[in-house]
Amino acid sequence: MIIKPRIRGFICTTAHPKGCAAHVDEQIAAVKARGTIANGPKRVLVIGASGGYGLASRIVNAFGAGAATLGVSFEKAPEADRTATAGWYNNRAFETRAHAAGLYAKTLDGDAFSDQMKTQVIERIKSDLGEIDLLVYSLASPVRQHPRTGVLYRSAIKPIGETYHVKTLNVDRGVVQEVDLEPATPDEIAATVAVMGGEDWEFWIDALQAAGVLAAGFKTMSYTYIGTDLTWPIYWHATLGKAKEDLDRAARAITKRLAVLKGEARVAVLKFVVSQASSAIPVVPLYGSLLYRVMKDAGVHETTIEQIDRLFRTQVYSGKPQRLDEEQRVRMDDVELTDAIQGDVKRRWPIVSTENLATLGDLDGFRADFLKIFGFGFDGVDYDEDLDPALAEL
Ligand code: NAD
Repeated sequence: MIIKPRIRGFICTTAHPKGCAAHVDEQIAAVKARGTIANGPKRVLVIGASGGYGLASRIVNAFGAGAATLGVSFEKAPEADRTATAGWYNNRAFETRAHAAGLYAKTLDGDAFSDQMKTQVIERIKSDLGEIDLLVYSLASPVRQHPRTGVLYRSAIKPIGETYHVKTLNVDRGVVQEVDLEPATPDEIAATVAVMGGEDWEFWIDALQAAGVLAAGFKTMSYTYIGTDLTWPIYWHATLGKAKEDLDRAARAITKRLAVLKGEARVAVLKFVVSQASSAIPVVPLYGSLLYRVMKDAGVHETTIEQIDRLFRTQVYSGKPQRLDEEQRVRMDDVELTDAIQGDVKRRWPIVSTENLATLGDLDGFRADFLKIFGFGFDGVDYDEDLDPALAEL
């Protein structure tokens, strides 16, 4: 099979095995170039390990701190006439490279929201690692089947209160257009909190703590986005923001439960990057492509792996006091939110159009990052090669 990108709206339905491996290699190289993270964790569980910020967290802790890593993700294996999802190839490529470096790495594919997955992970920790020092919770999912009630919740990415009339970007067509986003119903708000809020993070900690597999000084991190008034109507003040507020509640509750271990739970506020999840949020791709241009021109652009490397290297395991806000979150969006960067993005926002997007924004950079997620656009990968999509060796 000759594997080319097949884009449908904000997803790509194909993934290139060798390109995904090249993406993993690029991230490993970025971490290694920064040297060892002293005093890092030795046994790490990453929930949502196969892509975006979760994969970056796994790579940083494995190749920066030398940690054994157990990953959980929800990916599709290849079929004879169909590629796997990108995350499936990422997992294979990561494991091969970790094993070659003498590091334990195991990935369990399945529903992280289920009790069965929690039981499976606990069995694995007991048999292979004993305890864990760090849990990174980096799930981004549109649905969650509640493990106690069986109710299937679907998140809704919508404003709250009133219809929001706003500019957005159709990334596929490169068109800036205006849309009306209808407000969420109370049920939709509650469902979004049920899917993307903190309850499942708490369920994980409860299960792991009850099984006695959390080490003394155990830490857990979960990731959030806040942004500014440009995106607040669809993010922070909207359904997703309510879910993320619930993560702050969960962090406080988990920290209390971890007191016996002298452990801590923190939410880290990360910068905007292109990911499968972030591409699906209206308005955000337009904001993102303006932000990319402004941050690149100012020489302060950070990639997914650079952001996560800085988080663990300079905040979580630096041994120095962390840069926290009033909610005790670690702020890694510090550069994105400076007055200079935001002022420049806000200056461009009212005037950006389909015609001037190439100069005011970085649509090419945005698209290139989007394709990279699926393994496309890497030098040294032969995209005309006839490949078996089930390529086992990566
Ligand atoms: P992503 O889409 O790249 O990755 C999501 C991960 O979750 C994948 O590994 C996927 O397999 C896994 N997953 C989804 N449903 C699952 C399930 N039911 N069971 C097991 N695994 C499942 O997303 P991302 O952008 O890296 O987002 C990760 C976190 O970072 C989210 O909490 C997001 O809100 C946060 N965040 C993202 C950004 C951004 O700009 N991308 C910014 C700040 C914070």
